[in-house]
Amino acid sequence: MKLSWRVILLWTLPALIIGFFFWQGAFSSAPADMGRNTASTRMTYGRFLEYLDAGRVTSVDLYEGGRTAIVEAIDPELDNRIQRLRVDLPGNAPDLITRLRSDNISFDSHPIRNDGALWGLLGNLIFPVLLIGGLFFLFRRSSNVPGGPGQAMQFGKSRARFSMEAKTGVMFDDVAGIEEAKEELQEVVTFLKKPERFTAVGAKIPKGVLLVGPPGTGKTLLAKAIAGEAGVPFFSISGSEFVEMFVGVGASRVRDLFKKAKENAPCIIFIDEIDAVGRQRGAGIGGGNDEREQTLNQLLTEMDGFEGNTGIIIIAATNRPDVLDSALLRPGRFDRQVTVDAPDIKGRLEVLNVHARNKKIAPEVSLEAIARRTPGFTGADLANLLNEAAILTARRRKDAITMLEIDDAVDRVVAGMEGTPLVDSKSKRLIAYHEIGHAIIGTLLKDHDPVQKVTLIPRGQAQGLTWFTPNEEQGLISRSQILARISGALGGRAAEQEIFGDAEVTTGAGGDLQQVSSMARQMVTRFGMSDLGPLSLESQQGEVFLGRDWMTKSEYSEQIASRIDAQVRSIVEHCYDTSLRIIRDNRAVIDRLVDLLIEKETIDGDEFRQIVSEYAEVPEKEQFVPQI
Ligand code: ADP
Ligand code: ZN
Repeated sequence: MKLSWRVILLWTLPALIIGFFFWQGAFSSAPADMGRNTASTRMTYGRFLEYLDAGRVTSVDLYEGGRTAIVEAIDPELDNRIQRLRVDLPGNAPDLITRLRSDNISFDSHPIRNDGALWGLLGNLIFPVLLIGGLFFLFRRSSNVPGGPGQAMQFGKSRARFSMEAKTGVMFDDVAGIEEAKEELQEVVTFLKKPERFTAVGAKIPKGVLLVGPPGTGKTLLAKAIAGEAGVPFFSISGSEFVEMFVGVGASRVRDLFKKAKENAPCIIFIDEIDAVGRQRGAGIGGGNDEREQTLNQLLTEMDGFEGNTGIIIIAATNRPDVLDSALLRPGRFDRQVTVDAPDIKGRLEVLNVHARNKKIAPEVSLEAIARRTPGFTGADLANLLNEAAILTARRRKDAITMLEIDDAVDRVVAGMEGTPLVDSKSKRLIAYHEIGHAIIGTLLKDHDPVQKVTLIPRGQAQGLTWFTPNEEQGLISRSQILARISGALGGRAAEQEIFGDAEVTTGAGGDLQQVSSMARQMVTRFGMSDLGPLSLESQQGEVFLGRDWMTKSEYSEQIASRIDAQVRSIVEHCYDTSLRIIRDNRAVIDRLVDLLIEKETIDGDEFRQIVSEYAEVPEKEQFVPQI
């Protein structure tokens, strides 16, 4: 907002200046309004005198204090028609009036019309005023706002990049599904509310808490809830805001933030994405980053600089605690770590309850069923899901959200917007075979998650989709489960190849193959599930430029690398053979299912299993169903 004003002015001023000359010109050349008697034809004063002598003039109207006149004259050449002509008079001519009187010509004098002149005056004034006003405004802004051109030397000083909320209005009740984190942080509220209790016995109040967890799990919400519960102001800034182009800017922002916070203590300072500043110093490609290091040093200095009892508690959030500089994690700094993970089924139900509070939901909707359908969803995903469902409900002009909208919203949150179905064509058949390929392998392999539904309605990038019901909250995955997943993911390509032949396979399997490679590779390098033996050869893959990972990337020789590749290939080949065999052996039911899918666009899991069971034995699957 602030900036945009400046930009607008900067761009409009030149335009205004140019406009000024045009407008001015327009005003000064505009003929003064002569009332209703405007005559366009002009006549010279000499000619006017001639007309007077010839007795052709019948009336004269004087304007502008006698400087202009509209003359009515008879034209004998045109049947004595009356002509109206405009004459410029040479100043005030008293003898003219005497003459008119003696000739008995009717004449009248009209007052000077003021509004024309007034407008002219305004027109002349308005632009200079705007111009000066604009310049003044600009000038004031730039001298007020450090960093503006007026004060280039102080650009770091509080560009007010952090925000302060006096009252967040968020309470612990609004945060659901992360009970352990909440319990741990409950104590922080007590520090803020009753510091005496701790200081009385000589305890030092902790300064920093690090919230660790993936995005959308409610870290910001939690920090706000602490401020809300304790009734203290909430300062927040994102780590990325500290890091600027100029060396020293970030550091001075840190200084400023802490200065403001001290004035408002007790309070909470929330630093989101702290890994943006707090990364291991001197790491990453190309060595350190001066600016970031200075910022980080300043942050450390500030944290050491105030006594624990001032009542400032710094809460930082990150998804990558592993890349943080160890100095940040030392006692007296962020020495408390609280993990905030995606909620389990019970947590999801609680989050849904929180967000259902202000929504109209039909009584038959079971939030529990939604919680079951959404493993892996974070708090933010669930909030988004209910909101999408509410939007769909409004669009369909219903009174309350029903299960239908919720199902559609889940699909949309997971797989993107629904597209229009393909018309029946060869490529639609191919996509149908591809999806049925995934689904049939998922159904016939005992260790694969069961099919939830198969659909040909495009969503996001996908032309068709097969949904599986993941086995709820299983922490560990067995080797045969991973193999089944690889075979299932290869099922689409296997069906394309088996039915349409080598030449007709499509790019549609690209995403599947990516997953396949990654799963197979991890089996070999991380989980010790291959002939190479129980070795961990790679740490979890992370981006090289994030700092530390650079050095830990490959811990094996060239020889091992080629053996890894060979193992990965043999796993994938083995699974692909399984898929091809299942497709070949079940061709009849696959053809029938494809016809049905093209006709109905969607087949749900139960119907799918029912049809398959008429042709082959469908293994019973163990689904672990958690109790809520
Ligand atoms: P993070 O900071 O971890 O990325 P946020 O706190 O910004 O996540 O969460 C974004 C939104 O998602 C919140 O404003 C809230 O509406 C919702 N949300 C996330 N986690 C929860 C939760 N545990 N309970 C209730 N709502 C949540
Ligand atoms: Zn596929």
